[in-house]
Amino acid sequence: MGGVVGEALWQGGLEEALRAWLREDLGQGDLTSLLVVPEDLEGEAVILAKEEGVLAGLWVAERVFALADPRTAFTPLVAEEDQKAHLRDTLVAGRGLVEEGVARSILEEAPRHLERLRAFGLPFHPEPTREGGHSRARVFHLGGDRSGLLLLEGLLKRLSAPVVPAQALSLLVSGNRVAGALLWGPEGLWEVRAGAVLLATGGFGRLFPVTTNPQGATGDGMALAWRAGAVLRDLEFVQFHPTALPNGALVSEACRGEGALLLNAQGERFMPRYDPLAELAPRDVVARAVFREREGTGGVYLDLRPIPHLEERFPTVVAQARALGLDPLRAPLPVAPAAHYAMGGVRTDAFGHTGIPGLFAAGEVASTGFHGANRLASNSLLEGLVVGWRAALRALEDLAFPPSATPLPALAAPPEAVASLREEAGEALGVVRRKEALLAFLRRAEAVPLEEVEKASRDRLEAGSLLLLMRLLARAALAREESRGAHFREDFPPEDRPRHSLFQGWRLGFLPVGVE
Ligand SMILES: Cc1cc2nc3c(=O)[nH]c(=O)nc-3n(C[C@H](O)[C@H](O)[C@H](O)COP(=O)(O)OP(=O)(O)OC[C@H]3O[C@@H](n4cnc5c(N)ncnc54)[C@H](O)[C@@H]3O)c2cc1C
Repeated sequence: MGGVVGEALWQGGLEEALRAWLREDLGQGDLTSLLVVPEDLEGEAVILAKEEGVLAGLWVAERVFALADPRTAFTPLVAEEDQKAHLRDTLVAGRGLVEEGVARSILEEAPRHLERLRAFGLPFHPEPTREGGHSRARVFHLGGDRSGLLLLEGLLKRLSAPVVPAQALSLLVSGNRVAGALLWGPEGLWEVRAGAVLLATGGFGRLFPVTTNPQGATGDGMALAWRAGAVLRDLEFVQFHPTALPNGALVSEACRGEGALLLNAQGERFMPRYDPLAELAPRDVVARAVFREREGTGGVYLDLRPIPHLEERFPTVVAQARALGLDPLRAPLPVAPAAHYAMGGVRTDAFGHTGIPGLFAAGEVASTGFHGANRLASNSLLEGLVVGWRAALRALEDLAFPPSATPLPALAAPPEAVASLREEAGEALGVVRRKEALLAFLRRAEAVPLEEVEKASRDRLEAGSLLLLMRLLARAALAREESRGAHFREDFPPEDRPRHSLFQGWRLGFLPVGVE
Protein backbone atom coordinates (compact mmCIF):
# COMPACT_ATOMS: atom_id res chain seq x y z
CA MET A 1 0.00 0.00 0.00
CA GLY A 2 1.35 3.39 -0.92
CA GLY A 3 1.65 6.50 1.15
CA VAL A 4 -0.23 9.29 -0.57
CA VAL A 5 -3.78 10.43 -0.09
CA GLY A 6 -5.84 11.48 -3.10
CA GLU A 7 -5.61 15.04 -4.27
CA ALA A 8 -9.03 15.96 -2.95
CA LEU A 9 -7.81 15.33 0.56
CA TRP A 10 -4.83 17.57 0.32
CA GLN A 11 -6.72 20.62 -0.81
CA GLY A 12 -7.35 23.53 1.55
CA GLY A 13 -4.51 22.90 4.00
CA LEU A 14 -6.01 19.61 5.09
CA GLU A 15 -2.70 17.84 4.86
CA GLU A 16 -1.28 19.54 7.94
CA ALA A 17 -4.48 18.95 9.93
CA LEU A 18 -4.41 15.27 9.07
CA ARG A 19 -0.77 14.91 9.90
CA ALA A 20 -1.41 16.52 13.28
CA TRP A 21 -4.31 14.16 13.86
CA LEU A 22 -2.12 11.22 12.99
CA ARG A 23 0.63 12.40 15.32
CA GLU A 24 -1.52 13.30 18.31
CA ASP A 25 -4.64 11.21 18.17
CA LEU A 26 -3.73 7.96 16.57
CA GLY A 27 -2.89 6.52 19.94
CA GLN A 28 -6.59 6.84 20.76
CA GLY A 29 -7.93 5.92 17.37
CA ASP A 30 -8.90 2.84 15.46
CA LEU A 31 -7.18 0.98 12.72
CA THR A 32 -8.28 -0.17 9.36
CA SER A 33 -11.69 0.34 7.98
CA LEU A 34 -11.50 0.94 4.32
CA LEU A 35 -8.83 0.85 1.69
CA VAL A 36 -9.38 3.34 -1.07
CA VAL A 37 -7.28 3.67 -4.14
CA PRO A 38 -7.80 7.12 -5.63
CA GLU A 39 -8.42 7.06 -9.33
CA ASP A 40 -5.50 9.21 -10.40
CA LEU A 41 -3.02 7.51 -8.08
CA GLU A 42 -2.93 4.00 -9.27
CA GLY A 43 -1.42 1.73 -6.67
CA GLU A 44 -1.77 4.22 -3.82
CA ALA A 45 -3.95 3.54 -0.81
CA VAL A 46 -5.72 5.30 2.03
CA ILE A 47 -6.90 3.71 5.24
CA LEU A 48 -10.01 5.20 6.79
CA ALA A 49 -11.25 4.87 10.35
CA LYS A 50 -14.28 6.35 12.04
CA GLU A 51 -13.10 9.27 14.12
CA GLU A 52 -14.25 8.12 17.47
CA GLY A 53 -11.40 8.02 19.93
CA VAL A 54 -12.37 4.58 21.16
CA LEU A 55 -10.51 1.36 20.80
CA ALA A 56 -11.11 -0.98 17.92
CA GLY A 57 -11.47 -4.69 18.49
CA LEU A 58 -7.97 -5.33 17.26
CA TRP A 59 -6.58 -2.89 19.77
CA VAL A 60 -8.05 -4.77 22.70
CA ALA A 61 -7.39 -8.32 21.51
CA GLU A 62 -5.59 -10.07 24.28
CA ARG A 63 -3.75 -12.71 22.32
CA VAL A 64 -2.42 -12.84 18.85
CA PHE A 65 -3.15 -15.99 17.10
CA ALA A 66 -3.52 -19.62 17.18
CA LEU A 67 -1.16 -21.37 14.86
CA ALA A 68 1.54 -23.87 14.42
CA ASP A 69 4.78 -22.22 15.44
CA PRO A 70 7.15 -22.76 12.54
CA ARG A 71 10.12 -22.63 14.92
CA THR A 72 8.98 -25.65 16.91
CA ALA A 73 10.09 -27.60 13.96
CA PHE A 74 12.87 -27.11 11.90
CA THR A 75 10.86 -30.10 11.59
CA PRO A 76 8.16 -28.99 9.26
CA LEU A 77 6.52 -32.20 10.31
CA VAL A 78 5.47 -30.88 13.71
CA ALA A 79 4.10 -27.68 12.21
CA GLU A 80 2.29 -29.69 9.59
CA GLU A 81 0.85 -32.06 12.14
CA ASP A 82 -0.32 -29.18 14.22
CA GLN A 83 -1.94 -27.60 11.18
CA LYS A 84 -3.98 -30.76 10.83
CA ALA A 85 -4.87 -30.72 14.52
CA HIS A 86 -5.70 -27.02 14.32
CA LEU A 87 -7.96 -27.69 11.34
CA ARG A 88 -9.70 -30.46 13.30
CA ASP A 89 -10.25 -28.13 16.27
CA THR A 90 -11.60 -25.42 13.92
CA LEU A 91 -14.01 -27.92 12.33
CA VAL A 92 -15.20 -29.22 15.69
CA ALA A 93 -15.88 -25.72 17.05
CA GLY A 94 -17.58 -24.65 13.78
CA ARG A 95 -20.20 -27.42 14.05
CA GLY A 96 -20.43 -28.44 10.40
CA LEU A 97 -20.52 -24.92 8.90
CA VAL A 98 -16.78 -24.41 8.34
CA GLU A 99 -15.75 -24.23 4.68
CA GLU A 100 -12.94 -26.76 4.97
CA GLY A 101 -11.00 -25.68 1.85
CA VAL A 102 -10.95 -22.07 3.06
CA ALA A 103 -9.86 -23.11 6.56
CA ARG A 104 -7.09 -25.30 5.22
CA SER A 105 -5.72 -22.58 2.96
CA ILE A 106 -5.72 -20.00 5.80
CA LEU A 107 -3.99 -22.37 8.21
CA GLU A 108 -1.36 -23.37 5.66
CA GLU A 109 -0.42 -19.76 5.04
CA ALA A 110 -0.57 -18.65 8.68
CA PRO A 111 2.97 -19.54 9.85
CA ARG A 112 4.43 -17.27 7.16
CA HIS A 113 2.55 -14.33 8.68
CA LEU A 114 3.72 -15.13 12.19
CA GLU A 115 7.27 -15.12 10.86
CA ARG A 116 6.65 -11.75 9.22
CA LEU A 117 5.55 -10.30 12.56
CA ARG A 118 8.49 -11.84 14.37
CA ALA A 119 10.78 -10.26 11.78
CA PHE A 120 9.29 -6.88 12.78
CA GLY A 121 10.76 -7.52 16.23
CA LEU A 122 7.41 -7.77 18.03
CA PRO A 123 7.99 -9.13 21.54
CA PHE A 124 6.22 -12.48 21.41
CA HIS A 125 6.16 -14.67 24.49
CA PRO A 126 8.38 -17.64 23.74
CA GLU A 127 5.80 -20.22 24.79
CA PRO A 128 2.30 -20.56 23.35
CA THR A 129 -0.71 -21.12 25.62
CA ARG A 130 -3.70 -23.41 25.30
CA GLU A 131 -7.16 -21.90 25.06
CA GLY A 132 -10.82 -22.89 24.78
CA GLY A 133 -11.52 -25.47 22.07
CA HIS A 134 -7.80 -25.98 21.26
CA SER A 135 -6.43 -29.49 21.69
CA ARG A 136 -2.93 -28.18 22.45
CA ALA A 137 -1.03 -25.02 23.33
CA ARG A 138 -0.62 -22.96 20.16
CA VAL A 139 -1.78 -19.42 20.94
CA PHE A 140 0.89 -16.73 21.06
CA HIS A 141 0.73 -13.59 23.20
CA LEU A 142 2.46 -10.26 23.38
CA GLY A 143 2.89 -8.27 26.60
CA GLY A 144 0.76 -10.45 28.88
CA ASP A 145 -2.83 -9.73 27.82
CA ARG A 146 -1.98 -6.73 25.64
CA SER A 147 -1.38 -8.55 22.37
CA GLY A 148 -3.74 -6.43 20.28
CA LEU A 149 -2.23 -3.19 21.54
CA LEU A 150 1.37 -4.23 20.87
CA LEU A 151 0.51 -5.77 17.53
CA LEU A 152 -1.28 -2.62 16.43
CA GLU A 153 1.53 -0.36 17.62
CA GLY A 154 4.06 -2.54 15.82
CA LEU A 155 2.06 -2.44 12.59
CA LEU A 156 1.33 1.29 12.77
CA LYS A 157 5.03 2.05 13.00
CA ARG A 158 5.48 0.34 9.65
CA LEU A 159 2.43 1.77 7.98
CA SER A 160 3.19 3.88 4.96
CA ALA A 161 -0.44 4.61 3.99
CA PRO A 162 -2.01 7.40 6.03
CA VAL A 163 -4.95 6.73 8.35
CA VAL A 164 -7.69 9.28 7.74
CA PRO A 165 -10.56 9.98 10.14
CA ALA A 166 -13.67 9.59 8.03
CA GLN A 167 -16.91 7.63 8.13
CA ALA A 168 -18.17 5.83 5.03
CA LEU A 169 -21.87 6.60 4.42
CA SER A 170 -22.37 4.72 1.18
CA LEU A 171 -20.52 3.21 -1.75
CA LEU A 172 -20.15 4.80 -5.17
CA VAL A 173 -21.09 2.58 -8.09
CA SER A 174 -20.64 2.59 -11.80
CA GLY A 175 -22.87 -0.03 -13.40
CA ASN A 176 -22.30 -3.16 -11.34
CA ARG A 177 -18.85 -2.08 -10.15
CA VAL A 178 -18.04 -0.43 -6.81
CA ALA A 179 -16.01 2.66 -7.64
CA GLY A 180 -15.39 4.49 -4.37
CA ALA A 181 -17.19 5.75 -1.29
CA LEU A 182 -19.08 8.75 0.01
CA LEU A 183 -17.55 9.84 3.32
CA TRP A 184 -17.99 12.19 6.21
CA GLY A 185 -14.43 13.49 6.37
CA PRO A 186 -12.76 16.16 8.49
CA GLU A 187 -14.25 18.83 6.24
CA GLY A 188 -17.70 17.47 5.64
CA LEU A 189 -19.00 15.31 2.80
CA TRP A 190 -16.31 13.90 0.62
CA GLU A 191 -16.71 11.76 -2.49
CA VAL A 192 -13.70 9.56 -3.15
CA ARG A 193 -13.46 7.71 -6.43
CA ALA A 194 -11.45 4.53 -6.07
CA GLY A 195 -10.14 1.70 -8.20
CA ALA A 196 -11.13 -0.78 -5.48
CA VAL A 197 -12.62 -0.71 -1.99
CA LEU A 198 -11.65 -3.12 0.77
CA LEU A 199 -14.04 -3.18 3.71
CA ALA A 200 -12.42 -4.01 7.06
CA THR A 201 -15.03 -2.36 9.27
CA GLY A 202 -15.37 -5.01 11.97
CA GLY A 203 -18.50 -6.51 13.53
CA PHE A 204 -21.83 -5.41 14.99
CA GLY A 205 -21.55 -6.07 18.73
CA ARG A 206 -23.30 -2.72 19.41
CA LEU A 207 -26.54 -4.35 18.33
CA PHE A 208 -26.62 -5.84 21.86
CA PRO A 209 -26.99 -4.12 25.23
CA VAL A 210 -23.89 -5.81 26.69
CA THR A 211 -20.91 -6.27 24.40
CA THR A 212 -17.14 -6.44 24.57
CA ASN A 213 -16.95 -4.51 21.25
CA PRO A 214 -15.90 -0.88 20.75
CA GLN A 215 -18.41 1.93 20.05
CA GLY A 216 -17.84 1.82 16.31
CA ALA A 217 -18.88 -1.84 15.94
CA THR A 218 -22.23 -1.02 14.33
CA GLY A 219 -22.02 -3.26 11.28
CA ASP A 220 -21.63 -0.36 8.82
CA GLY A 221 -19.55 -2.38 6.36
CA MET A 222 -22.18 -5.13 6.16
CA ALA A 223 -24.86 -2.51 5.53
CA LEU A 224 -22.75 -0.84 2.81
CA ALA A 225 -22.11 -4.15 1.08
CA TRP A 226 -25.76 -5.28 1.40
CA ARG A 227 -26.92 -2.02 -0.19
CA ALA A 228 -24.50 -2.67 -3.08
CA GLY A 229 -26.04 -6.12 -3.67
CA ALA A 230 -23.46 -8.32 -1.90
CA VAL A 231 -24.58 -11.49 -0.13
CA LEU A 232 -24.64 -11.53 3.70
CA ARG A 233 -24.13 -14.98 5.15
CA ASP A 234 -24.78 -16.70 8.53
CA LEU A 235 -25.69 -13.50 10.41
CA GLU A 236 -27.50 -15.44 13.14
CA PHE A 237 -24.19 -16.81 14.43
CA VAL A 238 -23.02 -14.35 17.07
CA GLN A 239 -20.45 -15.51 19.56
CA PHE A 240 -21.17 -14.54 23.14
CA HIS A 241 -18.10 -14.37 25.30
CA PRO A 242 -19.00 -16.27 28.45
CA THR A 243 -17.06 -14.16 30.92
CA ALA A 244 -17.56 -10.39 30.68
CA LEU A 245 -17.65 -8.05 33.65
CA PRO A 246 -20.91 -6.09 34.22
CA ASN A 247 -19.72 -3.24 31.92
CA GLY A 248 -18.81 -5.60 29.06
CA ALA A 249 -15.04 -5.63 29.81
CA LEU A 250 -13.78 -9.03 28.85
CA VAL A 251 -12.09 -11.48 31.18
CA SER A 252 -9.88 -13.38 28.79
CA GLU A 253 -10.45 -17.04 28.11
CA ALA A 254 -6.74 -17.44 28.74
CA CYS A 255 -7.57 -16.95 32.44
CA ARG A 256 -9.55 -20.18 32.36
CA GLY A 257 -6.71 -21.76 30.37
CA GLU A 258 -4.43 -20.96 33.28
CA GLY A 259 -6.64 -22.25 36.06
CA ALA A 260 -9.53 -19.81 36.74
CA LEU A 261 -12.75 -21.59 37.78
CA LEU A 262 -16.41 -20.77 37.18
CA LEU A 263 -18.68 -20.88 40.24
CA ASN A 264 -22.43 -20.37 40.57
CA ALA A 265 -24.12 -18.26 43.25
CA GLN A 266 -23.96 -21.25 45.61
CA GLY A 267 -20.19 -21.45 45.22
CA GLU A 268 -20.42 -24.69 43.20
CA ARG A 269 -18.01 -25.33 40.29
CA PHE A 270 -20.56 -26.25 37.62
CA MET A 271 -18.74 -26.62 34.25
CA PRO A 272 -17.79 -30.31 34.72
CA ARG A 273 -21.56 -31.02 34.75
CA TYR A 274 -21.91 -29.50 31.25
CA ASP A 275 -18.83 -30.69 29.33
CA PRO A 276 -15.83 -32.98 29.86
CA LEU A 277 -13.53 -30.07 28.92
CA ALA A 278 -15.11 -28.11 31.82
CA GLU A 279 -13.96 -24.44 31.80
CA LEU A 280 -12.15 -25.03 28.48
CA ALA A 281 -15.19 -26.25 26.56
CA PRO A 282 -15.99 -24.31 23.34
CA ARG A 283 -17.36 -20.82 23.92
CA ASP A 284 -20.96 -21.55 23.00
CA VAL A 285 -21.11 -24.38 25.54
CA VAL A 286 -19.61 -22.24 28.31
CA ALA A 287 -21.83 -19.23 27.43
CA ARG A 288 -25.01 -21.33 27.63
CA ALA A 289 -23.91 -22.93 30.91
CA VAL A 290 -23.21 -19.48 32.39
CA PHE A 291 -26.61 -18.26 31.13
CA ARG A 292 -28.41 -21.26 32.71
CA GLU A 293 -26.59 -21.04 36.04
CA ARG A 294 -27.29 -17.32 36.25
CA GLU A 295 -30.98 -18.00 35.63
CA GLY A 296 -31.01 -20.94 38.02
CA THR A 297 -28.94 -19.65 40.94
CA GLY A 298 -28.92 -15.88 40.50
CA GLY A 299 -25.28 -15.32 39.54
CA VAL A 300 -22.01 -16.66 38.15
CA TYR A 301 -18.49 -15.80 39.31
CA LEU A 302 -15.02 -16.37 37.94
CA ASP A 303 -12.42 -17.25 40.54
CA LEU A 304 -9.02 -16.04 39.32
CA ARG A 305 -7.21 -16.80 42.54
CA PRO A 306 -5.86 -20.21 41.38
CA ILE A 307 -3.74 -18.38 38.71
CA PRO A 308 -0.14 -17.93 39.84
CA HIS A 309 1.26 -14.36 39.53
CA LEU A 310 -2.15 -13.07 38.50
CA GLU A 311 -1.22 -9.38 38.39
CA GLU A 312 1.78 -9.94 36.14
CA ARG A 313 0.06 -12.42 33.88
CA PHE A 314 -3.22 -10.52 33.39
CA PRO A 315 -2.57 -6.86 34.18
CA THR A 316 -5.47 -5.62 32.04
CA VAL A 317 -8.04 -7.91 33.64
CA VAL A 318 -6.90 -6.92 37.12
CA ALA A 319 -7.00 -3.21 36.26
CA GLN A 320 -10.45 -3.46 34.63
CA ALA A 321 -11.87 -5.27 37.68
CA ARG A 322 -10.34 -2.72 40.05
CA ALA A 323 -11.85 0.12 38.02
CA LEU A 324 -15.25 -1.40 38.92
CA GLY A 325 -14.31 -1.63 42.61
CA LEU A 326 -13.68 -5.40 42.43
CA ASP A 327 -10.53 -7.16 43.64
CA PRO A 328 -9.83 -10.48 41.83
CA LEU A 329 -7.00 -11.28 44.29
CA ARG A 330 -9.54 -11.44 47.11
CA ALA A 331 -12.84 -12.64 45.66
CA PRO A 332 -14.33 -14.19 42.51
CA LEU A 333 -15.57 -11.68 39.89
CA PRO A 334 -19.22 -11.50 38.78
CA VAL A 335 -19.41 -12.45 35.08
CA ALA A 336 -22.07 -12.84 32.37
CA PRO A 337 -22.11 -13.59 28.62
CA ALA A 338 -21.64 -10.56 26.30
CA ALA A 339 -21.89 -10.24 22.49
CA HIS A 340 -18.33 -10.63 21.25
CA TYR A 341 -17.81 -11.71 17.66
CA ALA A 342 -19.88 -11.94 14.47
CA MET A 343 -19.13 -15.19 12.65
CA GLY A 344 -21.34 -14.12 9.74
CA GLY A 345 -20.92 -11.15 7.45
CA VAL A 346 -20.29 -10.26 3.83
CA ARG A 347 -19.77 -13.52 1.96
CA THR A 348 -16.30 -13.71 0.42
CA ASP A 349 -13.97 -16.38 -0.88
CA ALA A 350 -10.60 -16.99 0.81
CA PHE A 351 -9.18 -13.95 -1.03
CA GLY A 352 -11.70 -11.34 0.09
CA HIS A 353 -13.71 -11.27 -3.17
CA THR A 354 -17.35 -10.36 -2.44
CA GLY A 355 -18.62 -11.22 -5.91
CA ILE A 356 -19.30 -7.51 -6.59
CA PRO A 357 -16.60 -6.15 -8.92
CA GLY A 358 -14.37 -3.64 -7.11
CA LEU A 359 -15.58 -4.63 -3.61
CA PHE A 360 -13.46 -6.69 -1.20
CA ALA A 361 -13.93 -7.49 2.47
CA ALA A 362 -11.70 -8.96 5.19
CA GLY A 363 -11.71 -9.40 8.95
CA GLU A 364 -14.81 -9.52 11.08
CA VAL A 365 -16.99 -7.79 8.46
CA ALA A 366 -16.49 -10.77 6.16
CA SER A 367 -17.72 -14.34 6.17
CA THR A 368 -15.13 -16.55 4.52
CA GLY A 369 -16.58 -19.67 6.12
CA PHE A 370 -13.49 -20.14 8.33
CA HIS A 371 -15.40 -19.85 11.62
CA GLY A 372 -18.54 -21.81 10.76
CA ALA A 373 -21.15 -21.67 13.52
CA ASN A 374 -18.65 -20.86 16.24
CA ARG A 375 -15.23 -19.22 16.06
CA LEU A 376 -12.35 -21.08 17.66
CA ALA A 377 -10.57 -18.76 20.12
CA SER A 378 -8.06 -16.50 18.34
CA ASN A 379 -8.79 -17.72 14.85
CA SER A 380 -10.12 -14.25 14.00
CA LEU A 381 -6.86 -12.30 14.10
CA LEU A 382 -5.27 -15.13 12.21
CA GLU A 383 -7.93 -14.88 9.52
CA GLY A 384 -7.70 -11.07 9.46
CA LEU A 385 -3.98 -11.21 8.91
CA VAL A 386 -4.02 -13.83 6.16
CA VAL A 387 -7.15 -12.76 4.26
CA GLY A 388 -6.49 -9.03 4.82
CA TRP A 389 -3.12 -9.47 3.15
CA ARG A 390 -4.51 -11.53 0.29
CA ALA A 391 -7.49 -9.21 -0.27
CA ALA A 392 -5.27 -6.11 -0.40
CA LEU A 393 -3.11 -7.78 -3.08
CA ARG A 394 -6.16 -8.87 -5.07
CA ALA A 395 -7.70 -5.41 -4.80
CA LEU A 396 -4.54 -3.85 -6.18
CA GLU A 397 -4.50 -6.34 -9.06
CA ASP A 398 -8.12 -5.56 -9.89
CA LEU A 399 -8.10 -1.75 -10.13
CA ALA A 400 -10.46 -0.15 -12.62
CA PHE A 401 -11.51 3.47 -12.99
CA PRO A 402 -14.85 3.92 -14.72
CA PRO A 403 -15.37 7.43 -16.14
CA SER A 404 -18.23 8.27 -13.75
CA ALA A 405 -19.73 6.95 -10.53
CA THR A 406 -22.74 7.77 -8.34
CA PRO A 407 -23.40 7.19 -4.65
CA LEU A 408 -25.93 4.59 -3.58
CA PRO A 409 -28.44 5.80 -1.00
CA ALA A 410 -27.27 5.55 2.62
CA LEU A 411 -29.36 3.80 5.29
CA ALA A 412 -30.56 5.81 8.29
CA ALA A 413 -32.85 5.23 11.28
CA PRO A 414 -33.95 7.12 14.42
CA PRO A 415 -31.21 6.51 17.05
CA GLU A 416 -33.56 6.56 20.09
CA ALA A 417 -35.84 3.88 18.66
CA VAL A 418 -32.83 1.70 17.79
CA ALA A 419 -31.36 2.22 21.27
CA SER A 420 -34.55 0.89 22.83
CA LEU A 421 -34.59 -2.09 20.43
CA ARG A 422 -31.01 -2.78 21.49
CA GLU A 423 -32.18 -3.32 25.08
CA GLU A 424 -34.62 -5.96 23.83
CA ALA A 425 -32.07 -7.61 21.51
CA GLY A 426 -30.21 -9.08 24.49
CA GLU A 427 -33.28 -11.16 25.34
CA ALA A 428 -34.62 -11.98 21.86
CA LEU A 429 -31.36 -12.49 19.93
CA GLY A 430 -29.18 -13.53 22.87
CA VAL A 431 -27.58 -16.79 24.04
CA VAL A 432 -30.88 -18.71 24.14
CA ARG A 433 -33.54 -17.91 21.48
CA ARG A 434 -37.26 -18.75 21.19
CA LYS A 435 -39.78 -18.31 18.37
CA GLU A 436 -42.21 -16.02 20.22
CA ALA A 437 -39.49 -13.63 21.42
CA LEU A 438 -37.90 -13.55 17.95
CA LEU A 439 -41.23 -12.82 16.27
CA ALA A 440 -42.13 -10.07 18.74
CA PHE A 441 -38.68 -8.49 18.29
CA LEU A 442 -38.91 -8.66 14.50
CA ARG A 443 -42.33 -6.97 14.53
CA ARG A 444 -40.95 -4.12 16.64
CA ALA A 445 -37.83 -3.80 14.47
CA GLU A 446 -39.97 -3.67 11.32
CA ALA A 447 -42.12 -0.92 12.83
CA VAL A 448 -39.09 1.38 13.12
CA PRO A 449 -38.49 3.23 9.81
CA LEU A 450 -35.36 2.33 7.86
CA GLU A 451 -34.88 5.17 5.41
CA GLU A 452 -32.81 5.53 2.26
CA VAL A 453 -31.21 8.97 2.34
CA GLU A 454 -28.55 10.96 0.54
CA LYS A 455 -26.79 11.81 3.80
CA ALA A 456 -27.45 11.84 7.54
CA SER A 457 -25.64 12.39 10.84
CA ARG A 458 -23.30 9.73 12.13
CA ASP A 459 -25.84 8.67 14.80
CA ARG A 460 -28.60 8.17 12.28
CA LEU A 461 -26.32 6.24 9.91
CA GLU A 462 -25.08 3.90 12.62
CA ALA A 463 -28.67 3.38 13.75
CA GLY A 464 -29.53 2.56 10.12
CA SER A 465 -26.83 -0.14 9.94
CA LEU A 466 -27.92 -1.60 13.28
CA LEU A 467 -31.62 -1.62 12.39
CA LEU A 468 -30.93 -3.38 9.09
CA LEU A 469 -28.87 -6.03 10.88
CA MET A 470 -31.45 -6.43 13.66
CA ARG A 471 -34.10 -7.24 11.07
CA LEU A 472 -31.88 -9.60 9.07
CA LEU A 473 -30.51 -11.35 12.13
CA ALA A 474 -33.98 -11.88 13.65
CA ARG A 475 -35.29 -13.27 10.35
CA ALA A 476 -32.35 -15.65 9.93
CA ALA A 477 -32.57 -16.79 13.57
CA LEU A 478 -36.30 -17.47 13.14
CA ALA A 479 -35.80 -19.39 9.91
CA ARG A 480 -33.01 -21.54 11.34
CA GLU A 481 -35.13 -24.09 13.17
CA GLU A 482 -32.25 -25.97 14.74
CA SER A 483 -29.50 -25.38 17.30
CA ARG A 484 -25.94 -25.24 16.06
CA GLY A 485 -22.84 -23.64 17.55
CA ALA A 486 -23.60 -20.14 18.73
CA HIS A 487 -27.25 -20.27 17.56
CA PHE A 488 -29.34 -22.02 20.21
CA ARG A 489 -33.12 -22.38 19.78
CA GLU A 490 -34.80 -23.59 22.95
CA ASP A 491 -37.73 -24.77 20.79
CA PHE A 492 -35.44 -26.65 18.34
CA PRO A 493 -32.53 -28.05 20.38
CA PRO A 494 -31.15 -30.67 17.93
CA GLU A 495 -28.99 -29.95 14.90
CA ASP A 496 -30.57 -30.27 11.46
CA ARG A 497 -28.68 -30.31 8.13
CA PRO A 498 -25.59 -28.05 7.97
CA ARG A 499 -26.56 -25.14 5.71
CA HIS A 500 -25.48 -21.54 5.37
CA SER A 501 -28.14 -18.83 5.53
CA LEU A 502 -27.81 -16.16 2.83
CA PHE A 503 -29.41 -12.78 2.33
CA GLN A 504 -29.36 -10.91 -0.93
CA GLY A 505 -31.50 -7.86 -0.44
CA TRP A 506 -34.40 -9.04 1.74
CA ARG A 507 -34.45 -12.48 0.13
CA LEU A 508 -33.38 -15.23 2.54
CA GLY A 509 -32.18 -18.62 1.33
CA PHE A 510 -30.15 -21.59 2.57
CA LEU A 511 -27.27 -23.32 0.82
CA PRO A 512 -25.37 -26.50 1.72
CA VAL A 513 -21.78 -26.13 2.89
CA GLY A 514 -19.17 -26.39 0.13
CA VAL A 515 -21.43 -24.96 -2.60
CA GLU A 516 -20.35 -21.67 -4.20
C1 LIG B 1 -12.30 -7.33 23.86
C2 LIG B 1 -11.93 -8.14 22.65
C3 LIG B 1 -10.90 -9.08 22.72
C4 LIG B 1 -10.57 -9.84 21.61
N1 LIG B 1 -9.55 -10.74 21.70
C5 LIG B 1 -9.18 -11.44 20.60
C6 LIG B 1 -8.07 -12.31 20.64
O1 LIG B 1 -7.45 -12.43 21.66
N2 LIG B 1 -7.73 -13.00 19.51
C7 LIG B 1 -8.41 -12.86 18.35
O2 LIG B 1 -8.07 -13.49 17.36
N3 LIG B 1 -9.48 -12.02 18.28
C8 LIG B 1 -9.86 -11.31 19.37
N4 LIG B 1 -10.93 -10.46 19.30
C9 LIG B 1 -11.59 -10.28 18.01
C10 LIG B 1 -10.73 -9.37 17.17
O3 LIG B 1 -10.35 -8.26 17.93
C11 LIG B 1 -11.49 -8.93 15.96
O4 LIG B 1 -11.77 -10.07 15.21
C12 LIG B 1 -10.66 -7.99 15.10
O5 LIG B 1 -10.37 -6.81 15.80
C13 LIG B 1 -11.40 -7.63 13.85
O6 LIG B 1 -10.56 -6.79 13.13
P1 LIG B 1 -11.13 -5.90 11.98
O7 LIG B 1 -9.98 -5.13 11.41
O8 LIG B 1 -11.97 -6.74 11.11
O9 LIG B 1 -12.13 -4.89 12.73
P2 LIG B 1 -11.88 -3.80 13.97
O10 LIG B 1 -10.59 -4.15 14.60
O11 LIG B 1 -13.13 -3.86 14.71
O12 LIG B 1 -11.71 -2.47 13.16
C14 LIG B 1 -12.81 -1.92 12.43
C15 LIG B 1 -12.47 -0.48 12.10
O13 LIG B 1 -13.37 0.01 11.10
C16 LIG B 1 -13.83 1.30 11.50
N5 LIG B 1 -15.15 1.53 10.88
C17 LIG B 1 -16.31 0.90 11.13
N6 LIG B 1 -17.30 1.41 10.36
C18 LIG B 1 -16.74 2.39 9.61
C19 LIG B 1 -17.26 3.32 8.64
N7 LIG B 1 -18.55 3.36 8.29
N8 LIG B 1 -16.40 4.22 8.08
C20 LIG B 1 -15.09 4.24 8.44
N9 LIG B 1 -14.55 3.40 9.37
C21 LIG B 1 -15.37 2.49 9.94
C22 LIG B 1 -13.87 1.24 13.01
O14 LIG B 1 -13.86 2.54 13.51
C23 LIG B 1 -12.59 0.46 13.28
O15 LIG B 1 -11.51 1.32 13.24
C24 LIG B 1 -11.28 -9.68 20.41
C25 LIG B 1 -12.32 -8.74 20.32
C26 LIG B 1 -12.63 -7.97 21.43
C27 LIG B 1 -13.75 -6.96 21.31
